[in-house]
Amino acid sequence: MASTDHILVLNTGSSSIKFSLYGNGASELLLKGRVENLFSGPTRFLVQDAAQNNVHEQTWPQALDHAAGMKALLAFLATRSGGQSLRAVGHRIVHGGSLYSGPAALDETVLAELETLVPLAPLHLPHNLAAVRAAMQMAPGVLQVACFDTAFHRSQPALAQAFALPPAITDRGIRRYGFHGLSYEYIASRLPDAEPALAGARVVAAHLGNGASMCAMHAGRSIASSMGFTAIDGLPMGTRCGAVDPGVVLYLIDQLGMDVAAVQDLLYLKSGLLGVSGISADMRELEASDAPRARLAIDLMVYRIGRELGSMAAALGGIDALVFSGGIGENSVALRAAVCRDARWLGVEIDKDANAAPGTGVARISAAASPVSVWVVPANEELMIARHTMDLLHKR
Ligand code: ADP
Repeated sequence: MASTDHILVLNTGSSSIKFSLYGNGASELLLKGRVENLFSGPTRFLVQDAAQNNVHEQTWPQALDHAAGMKALLAFLATRSGGQSLRAVGHRIVHGGSLYSGPAALDETVLAELETLVPLAPLHLPHNLAAVRAAMQMAPGVLQVACFDTAFHRSQPALAQAFALPPAITDRGIRRYGFHGLSYEYIASRLPDAEPALAGARVVAAHLGNGASMCAMHAGRSIASSMGFTAIDGLPMGTRCGAVDPGVVLYLIDQLGMDVAAVQDLLYLKSGLLGVSGISADMRELEASDAPRARLAIDLMVYRIGRELGSMAAALGGIDALVFSGGIGENSVALRAAVCRDARWLGVEIDKDANAAPGTGVARISAAASPVSVWVVPANEELMIARHTMDLLHKR
């Protein structure tokens, strides 16, 4: 490897550490990979180069934890660095609460503040912080940067972040935060390259992956988001239910005798596309199935996206562009077509051929005369984190 200034980007979940290694001021992706099956085993470590060739594979018979996974990753990177040292590590951190509206250099003080946010994201934040601690210990002196999924949404008007609850409750941090912020920030950064007028435009973006949400942006700033206090609100997702009447939760507990763990399991892991279809959380499988419940799951997702789109257009006072991103948004021709069909009333006119074959990279898929332009923007949260990390590195 000949490039300088290596930046490592980490996205750590409950069972995996995904990583990307960038060189040359975050402009060049060098390697990408993941350590998977942490805690359950057998743990696997896979690495690909920028051309997606497999360059390394390792399996352990036992289950590794975050620290052991991180050790294997850093040891591998040391063998591949060609004398270049790691300059900084950028971490994807799910929650920055109301404290962080941008990236932050991590130290013991920031870590202690983030520990206080664990109750806001108990399923994700502890894993993020475990990776930070392991990386700080194993790469001492290397800048570690926290990039938050919530930070981009701190620009929302106070009303968009509020719940109609008494201050004694909201003062405890119970408010709408919004997530997928790094993905939306990346989309906002790419659109003006594709169409300069979009720099000041009213844009609704839909990040549709296993997790799914929508964000209303004006002039590149978040105005509203479909996810709220947690990443379970808004759209139906792979296994998450999206918005349900809070009365449903009360009924589950009061009438069906479910405890907190059972409700959490139902709403996070057994609902959404999987729960409705009873077949799969994977959109590809549902699209390939002719079972009526698979159709229903897809129809419900399309319907909820349409309802949310209307709400976002209202928050923006109109809409100039609609963006699809994430695994479903980038790949499902049928879902994009269905969402755009339902959004004709807003001035959305899709170009059938462009939608069927948008190609790679940022692509316009609306008809030339469509009052609202429609785009596919491949998600790249990792690059956003690398850029933020590089910026903080250069400010020091
Ligand atoms: P994550 O949120 O975990 O990063 P992705 O962004 O990779 O997930 O999105 C995963 C979703 O994208 C799955 O539902 C998968 O079925 C869907 N998907 C991927 N490729 C296609 C495709 N060609 N057609 C339809 N859906 C697809």
